[in-house]
Amino acid sequence: MPADVLPLRNDAMISRLEQLCLDKGLKMTEQRRVIARVLSDSADHPDVEQVYRRATEIDPHISIATVYRTVRLFEEASILARHDFGEGRARYEEMPSAHHDHLIDLQSGEVIEFRNEDIEKLQHFVASELGYELVGHRLELYARRKSSRE
Ligand SMILES: [Zn+2]
Repeated sequence: MPADVLPLRNDAMISRLEQLCLDKGLKMTEQRRVIARVLSDSADHPDVEQVYRRATEIDPHISIATVYRTVRLFEEASILARHDFGEGRARYEEMPSAHHDHLIDLQSGEVIEFRNEDIEKLQHFVASELGYELVGHRLELYARRKSSRE
């Protein structure tokens, strides 16, 4: 079902992340629901501060400590993926249903998701050459936009 074509601001609707929480048997308080919704609605890999700002727009009583605790809880339950894009702050996204890698624009900080089948194959090949079976990987490309003169 294409859940992402449904209106995002319907409070009666359960976010995908909240559904994952329920599937994992996590107890969902109202504040956890808000934080789950914020993370589900964020496509930009926010850090805790950004999650906190977005959550307090919905419920001003949410504290930064609650956001930290909840994010850690979600991460431990493997429903939230944590990334370190070399900025000294962790950034988060809803656990993707399909694998992707990231390109980080060093000027804007924008994070672009991609998947490249040649890279996927090459990684299996490299692991295999070293006598291993690949079980997972993380790949981050740090890049700046080409100037139009190049
Ligand atoms: Zn991503």
